[in-house]
Amino acid sequence: MEQPNTVAAPLPAAPPSDSPEARRYNRIRRWLGIADAIIGFLLLVIVLMTGWTGTLRDWSYHFGGQRYFLAVFLYVLMFSVIMKVLSAPLDYFGFRLEHRYNLSNQKMRSWLWDELKGWLVGLVMGGIFVELIYAIIRIAPQRWWIVAWAVFVGLFLLIVQLAPVVLFPLFYKFEPLNNDSLRDRLTRLGERAGTRVRGVYEWKLSEKSKKANAALMGIGRTRRIILADTLLQNYTEDEIEAVLAHELGHHVRRHIVKGILMQVGITFFGFWLTNEVLRYALAHDWFPALDPRLYDFANLPLIILVATVLGFLLMPALNALSRRHEREADLYAWESIPAIGPFVSAMQKLADQNLAERTPSRFVEWFFESHPSIYKRIAAAEAWAQSRQQAS
Ligand SMILES: [Zn+2]
Repeated sequence: MEQPNTVAAPLPAAPPSDSPEARRYNRIRRWLGIADAIIGFLLLVIVLMTGWTGTLRDWSYHFGGQRYFLAVFLYVLMFSVIMKVLSAPLDYFGFRLEHRYNLSNQKMRSWLWDELKGWLVGLVMGGIFVELIYAIIRIAPQRWWIVAWAVFVGLFLLIVQLAPVVLFPLFYKFEPLNNDSLRDRLTRLGERAGTRVRGVYEWKLSEKSKKANAALMGIGRTRRIILADTLLQNYTEDEIEAVLAHELGHHVRRHIVKGILMQVGITFFGFWLTNEVLRYALAHDWFPALDPRLYDFANLPLIILVATVLGFLLMPALNALSRRHEREADLYAWESIPAIGPFVSAMQKLADQNLAERTPSRFVEWFFESHPSIYKRIAAAEAWAQSRQQAS
């Protein structure tokens, strides 16, 4: 169904305004994200313009005993260390920010350990992927981008499947939901929809955060709904049921599969574009430090740069798709639960607990937000309930 909430009754004249605290917190967080992206962008541009990428490549060959694939790994290693060092101050500022707004339970040691694990996971996954890309370039220099795209799709599916059982447990503990009445409610919700979500897990978020959250993740056997313990502790069963119904809506409407298909299409274009830009830049000698042969891995920053810029330009479109999925899941939830009251109160509680902006500016919502604003979600729910009443 196309945007069910566009038939909504007019919104109340004056939407509630957010507290200065919520405004400031969210503004700082956005600027942190922007600053982080700018640092990454500048690093890529600078190593290409100055030719430092060539120096890094020469060091890699030197320390790697002239062995190509070892040199590729050393290059990725050095690059990721430099990137981490540059972004570490911002990461630390982000950690302090959560504490300053009383949203975090995480100790410094635990945070440092998470940072290290996150960096290692990125290094391993990035390292494997970059090795594969350059192996493919050496084997099939003409059509490398199609093969690399196919390999990427395979790895991406593997990661989506393994993330709930391998990646997320590196950072959080999960336990099967130990609450019979909630499990019954979910089973009943699923039966109505002729579907079944095998797993519901309690996500031990409270060790690290005071925020609450829930999500649907995984594909196939690893498909599951996760509910933060912070949500289970502070919300009524009716409110939790509303959240469960929303997550079930994502499952029934196949949003994860749709998101994957979208990624698959975008990356096909992305790899094609990368190849074109790479060849053009090499043919016109934009960056003298790069060898004209494609397998010179000193051109890696250029590949990442194309991907980064493309990702940035597509952000509004991807967020629009995500917000559409959220609206669909909300509609599914309203139709599944006896009354929208618990949905509305769960939204209010979530906004307070997570210090979310209920009414972000139009631009902020359009560009940055993967979810419609809380204000819009509540207004849409109320309008839907009203139109239901009038129809009956
Ligand atoms: Zn959702």
